[in-house]
Amino acid sequence: NADMAMYRAKYAGKNNFSFYDNQLMEELVKRHELENDLKQAILRNELFLLYQPKVCLTTGKFYSAEALIRWRHPKYGLINPAEFINIAEESNSIIEMGLWVMSTACAQLMLWREHYDFRCIAVNVSSVQLQQTSFCQDVLAILTEHQCPAESLEIEQTESWIMDNPALNIAVLNKLKHIGVRLSLDDFGTAYSSLSQIGRLPLDILKIDKSFIDHCVEKQNDHMIVRTIIQLGHNLGMKIVAEGVETEAQRQLLQQEGCDEYQGYLFAKPLSVEEFELKLIQQKQLATSN
Ligand code: C2E
Ligand code: MG
Ligand code: MG
Ligand code: MG
Repeated sequence: NADMAMYRAKYAGKNNFSFYDNQLMEELVKRHELENDLKQAILRNELFLLYQPKVCLTTGKFYSAEALIRWRHPKYGLINPAEFINIAEESNSIIEMGLWVMSTACAQLMLWREHYDFRCIAVNVSSVQLQQTSFCQDVLAILTEHQCPAESLEIEQTESWIMDNPALNIAVLNKLKHIGVRLSLDDFGTAYSSLSQIGRLPLDILKIDKSFIDHCVEKQNDHMIVRTIIQLGHNLGMKIVAEGVETEAQRQLLQQEGCDEYQGYLFAKPLSVEEFELKLIQQKQLATSN
């Protein structure tokens, strides 16, 4: 690394491109490394899930959570999904990884259901997974393996994959709906989606993207967009979840607007299994003391 720094210092003066070339090269090398390492990551136990509560806006209680993947890399330390989901998709590792996520989340859900008033787990699913012809069968196999009720599993997906090929992808969603899992549309409002299609999707939940929540208190336009998404979703019979709620003022606004649930640092960051269990215990104690 000291060599690298010297190399940079030496060439930075002569040629402005070399620094960037170098950085690009390092990034490419890392990317290649991650792509290779990803193939072993599951076997080596390097992947784990964090869980973020989905909190009911009327009661302040949570009965469900979203599972969010993390990678503890031997060399690079903790890596967030933003840095490896793309790589996993391009190298198809996402298929095995996605099954691991779903299976691990279902196993965890069944443990928590046994001991606490807890009902449902949500997993994020990539379009690469959804396009696998075996996807629905895989979901069924996982539900069966863990004896998990289908309605306790929520599948989060983004709008862009649906709109890429609506006819085909709506058929996949209908098959999933037939199994009985819950379907939710993640990051709603950020990609292009056609209103005519939204009404045809067998969706249970709309998740309002964090970018609308961020300024919904100060910016009237964002407030109106949030209000309109909530009304649209409710009119179509969906439940509405707000993502990335960080302040009490945002929470209050969402409650006034009739939003159903929220996630965000205001209540809890994505938590380890142990931290999540503490929250569950707290909630249980509150319930018995009342
Ligand atoms: P997402 O599904 O939209 O998840 C929400 C992201 O926002 C998470 O980032 C979460 O940690 C973060 N977040 C939640 N509340 C707050 C808040 O109040 N403030 C801020 N600043 N951030 C908040 P994370 O865990 O880094 O995940 C990023 C994305 O990676 C996810 O976005 C999802 O698209 C993807 N992802 C995560 N886990 C998986 C997985 O198992 N499979 C697949 N295919 N994608 C995953
Ligand atoms: Mg999500
Ligand atoms: Mg989201
Ligand atoms: Mg998001």
